[in-house]
Amino acid sequence: PREIVLAIQLVPFDSTRKLMLSRDITQLEMVQTVHRDFVANVSHELRTPLTVIGGFLETLNDMENDDPALLRQFLPMMMEQSRRMQTLVEDLLTLSRLENSPAPLTSEKVNMHEMLETLMVEAEGLSQGRHRVTLTQQTGQWLWGSARELHSAFSNLVSNAIRYTPEGGRISLSWREEPERVVFSVSDTGIGIPREHIPRLTERFYRVDRGRSRGNGGTGLGLAIVKHVVARHHARLEIHSEPDQGSTFCVVFGRERMADPVMVESPGK
Ligand code: ADP
Repeated sequence: PREIVLAIQLVPFDSTRKLMLSRDITQLEMVQTVHRDFVANVSHELRTPLTVIGGFLETLNDMENDDPALLRQFLPMMMEQSRRMQTLVEDLLTLSRLENSPAPLTSEKVNMHEMLETLMVEAEGLSQGRHRVTLTQQTGQWLWGSARELHSAFSNLVSNAIRYTPEGGRISLSWREEPERVVFSVSDTGIGIPREHIPRLTERFYRVDRGRSRGNGGTGLGLAIVKHVVARHHARLEIHSEPDQGSTFCVVFGRERMADPVMVESPGK
């Protein structure tokens, strides 16, 4: 049974009687709850690094004599916490831009070949030789869309694959053409995701394992960003995963998104 929230209002009807009006505000209540949860989550995520940095600063400030060794020990830890806050704020800004701006009306021709090359460089940078990263491309090079948004979605999928795959695992990027669709996918041989979590993964701050995500630099916003970008490109996100086997995230575009190669006029015309 669905819970319904009603707003009741009494308004004068005539000199002796009142009229009772009721309005279904279930939807409004739900939006407000989501908003409250979001603010609570953001505050919590920012409070932890701020507490850590504050603690270190207080210790240093309370010391009678400067201790360069202690300073050397504290500085990298403070820097890491500050980076964590920076990433979180950047993800929040990206998300708010995606939620508050209309989908671009005129999209550009995105060079997927260049995009994949960039993603490969980023993947190798993040992996630092701890995984085998491969790329398969077997389809056209140009796609109608926003290069900036697509890059942000694809690189979130790539960094997740690396983040949730132990050393020695494989990460495969692919861009392929199927009869009715073109598909960008990232597969990994990592920890996988239990089935019951899959439907909720794109919710803001939803994580299967909070400690593991935070521990390796996750903000909990990556897949929420992916969801928005995918919707703005009229594409679909498919998630296939088995615990301890690995995961595949596919972004599926309709064929109409494929653009012709940039035309070069032949000299005879
Ligand atoms: P996070 O910053 O925590 O990675 P995301 O929104 O990107 O946030 O992902 C949400 C959750 O989905 C992660 O916390 C993780 O539990 C799970 N997840 C995402 N990608 C993968 C993957 N490739 N393998 C296993 N789990 C994943």
